[in-house]
Amino acid sequence: TEEVLNCIGCGAQIQTEDKDAPGYVQPSTLKKYLEDDSKELLCKRCFRLRNYNEITDVNIDDDEFLKLLDSISSKKGLIVNVIDIFDYEGSVIPGLQRFVGDKNILVVGNKLDLLPHSVNQNKLLNWIQQKSKENGIKSVDQIMVSAEKGTNIDKLMELIEKYRHGQDVYVVGTTNTGKSTLINKIISENSDIKDLITTSRFPGTTLDRIDIPLDDGHFLIDTPGIIHKYQLAHYLNEQELKAVTPKKQLHPSTFQLRDGQTIFVAGLARFDFLDEKSNVIFYVNQGLLLHRTKTINADEFYQKHLGELLNPPYDVTEFPKLKKEEFTSHQKSDIVIYGLGWVTIPANCKVRVFVPEGVSVSIRDAII
Ligand code: GDP
Repeated sequence: TEEVLNCIGCGAQIQTEDKDAPGYVQPSTLKKYLEDDSKELLCKRCFRLRNYNEITDVNIDDDEFLKLLDSISSKKGLIVNVIDIFDYEGSVIPGLQRFVGDKNILVVGNKLDLLPHSVNQNKLLNWIQQKSKENGIKSVDQIMVSAEKGTNIDKLMELIEKYRHGQDVYVVGTTNTGKSTLINKIISENSDIKDLITTSRFPGTTLDRIDIPLDDGHFLIDTPGIIHKYQLAHYLNEQELKAVTPKKQLHPSTFQLRDGQTIFVAGLARFDFLDEKSNVIFYVNQGLLLHRTKTINADEFYQKHLGELLNPPYDVTEFPKLKKEEFTSHQKSDIVIYGLGWVTIPANCKVRVFVPEGVSVSIRDAII
């Protein structure tokens, strides 16, 4: 029988098959260890953390994640839930509150740097709070940060101090929300942590988690990212995802539309205008094609040009069919296509939106 090996850093079972799963080591590393087991065996993630002070994300599925949450349900502490403000629906963890019991949840909306300056941040925070409520999450507070630019990280640390009541902090989030970037930022901005992290490790835990020491004997704990099937990202390959994900601040693209006109957002979404002449503003990644056509020809146009003029997707074989949904605005509103961006429409306006099956769309009060 084969011996089960565990990483001495995080306790994950060592494996050489899946780079993105816990416990991965390169086959050559494992071979070296088996030849000379006087050395320490660290998974790739712990190795990078120890040697480069850098967190890399590993992914686990819903079941494993729930087990992980269950294992902390009886412990005290603060939950920091990182979400992507461009993809709330893709970032929310259903049932989170139920699984973490009465622990406080602090919701952190990441990627603030992508929002245009004219955004009313309070409105967006209110929206995040309302969305949390709809998902059963009783957030004690919410804050928006940019992990990449370092914006509001100090304020976040203050909130964490305020709400953790001297207990551990568990950072949870779905993949791609920027959880690793955020934790790396926290590590790099806190020199005490940086010194500690290379030396003090907690071997023998069975959780696939990384413990970052705080200054009072408690820890900031990075949990693996959970994969979410509602993310647009789920339907795109790496290259397509690159084309969709904004890297820079979003700029408005305004169209004057009337009844019978359609805008394609590349091959990813379709927007039919069903009302009198109005200005409609698209907020999506700058390189993405916005193509106007007549609604009457739109079906045929899509079939003919998907994967070509209308790209991404580049690979259409596994791309889901578009499904439609209609919205009527009572006040100036945003139609939010999760993972892609949003479209601002005036009050009392009717529109039809098509998105890949499985991707969510919703309407909110305009944030600009
Ligand atoms: P994780 O899977 O949640 O750990 O996410 P990562 O930290 O790997 O980040 C996912 C993607 O989001 C990467 O492409 C990051 O560059 C990007 N990202 C992370 N934080 C920010 C941010 O504050 N602003 C922007 N624009 N992108 C970010």
